[in-house]
Amino acid sequence: MNRDKDNALRARALQVIPNGMYGHESVRLLPECFPQFFSKAQGAYIWDADGNRYLDFMCAYGPSLLGYRDERVDAAAQAQALLGDTLTGPSPLMVELAETLVEMVDHADWAMFCKNGTDATTMAMSSARAQTGKRVVLVAMGAYHGAAPWCTPIPAGTLAEDRAHIRTYAYNDVASLEAAVTEAGDDLAAIFASPFRHDAFIDQELPQPAYARAARELCDRSGAMLIIDEVRAGFRLARGSSWTALGVQPDLSAWGKCFANGHPISVLLGSDSCREGAGSIYATGSFWLSAVPMAAALETLRIIRESDYLEHSVRLGERLRAGLDAVAGQHGFTLRQSGPVQMPQIMFADDPDFRIGYGWAEEMLSRGIYMHPWHNMFLCAAMTEADIDMTIAAADEAFAALAARRAALEPHPVLVALASAMAH
Ligand code: PMP
Repeated sequence: MNRDKDNALRARALQVIPNGMYGHESVRLLPECFPQFFSKAQGAYIWDADGNRYLDFMCAYGPSLLGYRDERVDAAAQAQALLGDTLTGPSPLMVELAETLVEMVDHADWAMFCKNGTDATTMAMSSARAQTGKRVVLVAMGAYHGAAPWCTPIPAGTLAEDRAHIRTYAYNDVASLEAAVTEAGDDLAAIFASPFRHDAFIDQELPQPAYARAARELCDRSGAMLIIDEVRAGFRLARGSSWTALGVQPDLSAWGKCFANGHPISVLLGSDSCREGAGSIYATGSFWLSAVPMAAALETLRIIRESDYLEHSVRLGERLRAGLDAVAGQHGFTLRQSGPVQMPQIMFADDPDFRIGYGWAEEMLSRGIYMHPWHNMFLCAAMTEADIDMTIAAADEAFAALAARRAALEPHPVLVALASAMAH
């Protein structure tokens, strides 16, 4: 695949952007052949800067729920853009959107809009502390809640003090959660949980009902706030709160990524149990109340309520999982496929340093399928059965190619350096 334009852009970026790129969308930790820059997208497909097309199983790391440039959502956004976007105050859409979310999400009595997932999780933490007057916040070990100093996984530039009262427990482990709550004594402000365990580099875990119930009970007993971080999984598992299926309602939930189908908006939803705390914190941002993303969100939420986007994604996800397992087996590979089928994590058995996974991702990319070797992926509603069948056919070839070069596979150098830095 031609990479001339991507390579030229990377060289220019190195001059004017630290390291040429930052954060999770840097390709530093991806196989070398992965493009850094993309020029366009449509439906389930993205095109890199050199014009190569890929079926995109990352969906912009979550925001593309219905497919890129969904006509219905973009028409609503464009209609609002003709009226105005970032104004001296919010548009009437803000109230309608808050009402819509309060209607759709069981525990929610109110909404506060912001821009990124980190804004919403950080506001959740501050609101819980303001409500309870307490300091300690429990997060699951390895869980990602954003890039602010209190939660960033790479501590450079932060102080120990930034996370002085952030403590960890093990996801799905009731005893560990209880121990962390006991340790917090009478200073517990909040427990954070994601809808399921979707940490990078490991098999995904669905939440055990006993864990979800224990989190609720421990909060009730101590007066702490239960916070669900729905930023990644929200509206991909259910048309409302992800833990409603388990009979557990949080006090607060943080949403972002997909509920405006890629338009930039996030939201903190809360119940009356935390209304006062949320109302007391100072929260704002120049672009938080922009009207265009709100118009996009209203239309995306209508489609979420009225279409079979979710069932469609699950059907395709099941087809993909079964198909990949079958072709992997034919070539002597055993996959570890975990998580909900519509948010799959795909790794390999007997692949501790990810060399097989990286090799496979390379082979898939060269066949026009963009898959990630260690981060959960996403299906979008614009994908079709034909897309899935094409993916399985590409995988068949990719496994054959991989089997042929298996002995020569090597671990990714940056990943090795990172793993060793983390081990020390
Ligand atoms: N929480 C979770 C669970 C996430 O997956 C993310 C983003 N990957 C965030 C919070 C932070 O969201 P953002 O990058 O929009 O700030």
